[in-house]
Amino acid sequence: MNRRVAVAALVSIAMLGAYVNAQFGDKPATLDTIKIKDDLFVIHNDFVPGNTTVLVTNEGVVLVDDKFEIDHESIMAQLKKITNQPVKYVINTHYHGDHSGGNPKLQALGAQVITSQQAREKMAEIKQPGMANVTLDNSLRLFIGGKRIEMYRFGRAHTDGDIVVFLPRERMVATGDMITSALSYTGDAFVEEWPATLEGVMSLDFDTVLPGHGNVFKGKDHIRNLQAYWRDYYQQVTALQKQGVSPEEAAKRIDLTKHAGAIPAAKAPIDPRGVDRIYDLAANPNAPVR
Ligand SMILES: [Zn+2]
Repeated sequence: MNRRVAVAALVSIAMLGAYVNAQFGDKPATLDTIKIKDDLFVIHNDFVPGNTTVLVTNEGVVLVDDKFEIDHESIMAQLKKITNQPVKYVINTHYHGDHSGGNPKLQALGAQVITSQQAREKMAEIKQPGMANVTLDNSLRLFIGGKRIEMYRFGRAHTDGDIVVFLPRERMVATGDMITSALSYTGDAFVEEWPATLEGVMSLDFDTVLPGHGNVFKGKDHIRNLQAYWRDYYQQVTALQKQGVSPEEAAKRIDLTKHAGAIPAAKAPIDPRGVDRIYDLAANPNAPVR
């Protein structure tokens, strides 16, 4: 079990977030649908691509994230088992291709895509298809079929434009990759700001978390553990940077294994791209993603 988690973490560290990455997104993932409530489901797979949350209403379906483009047909096949309602809205928690790759095909079927303004600008910059029709700066409420769906941007974390999707009546939050069941890719993250952004998420009144990758979980303990991990990660990297240690060497030297009791993925080696990113941001707060 631990080994499996560690492998998943390595996969996530090595592969998440790379829109152009060829290893994932070449073949459709094997999907299964987990029922959370009568009208709420998670279309799940083995860690990559990201989870898709499905909210079914009598006025249409709302999806949170839509995996890679190549997973579109498989998502539609899973939806068909649940409902005949059309997909009206797709909310992307962030721009990464394993969460937003299905946008163009769903837009062609009449869906409206909602993202943060930052995510839309990023997709425009990298010419990623399926840009949002609707964007938010800080918050947005969507009312459909008697459901209330709230979106919040609490700050930067896994990317510049992360948002969470909160279902107040269900007391559930879909978080994208600012919270996964393991550890998220850090190559375009803002690790220094990540714990404060998580604090914002925890201000919401929820008891169930639908993470960007991995299994649905209850409570806020794992989020507090992630805050501690990212604080430690940032402190260790910046201390080494101040000592003049190279980023390659820093990635080897930082030791986060004391978090492995709470977060098994913390046993895995550190992705040097996360260290590069912290060095880059220290030199220039607006450093572009490499
Ligand atoms: Zn991501």
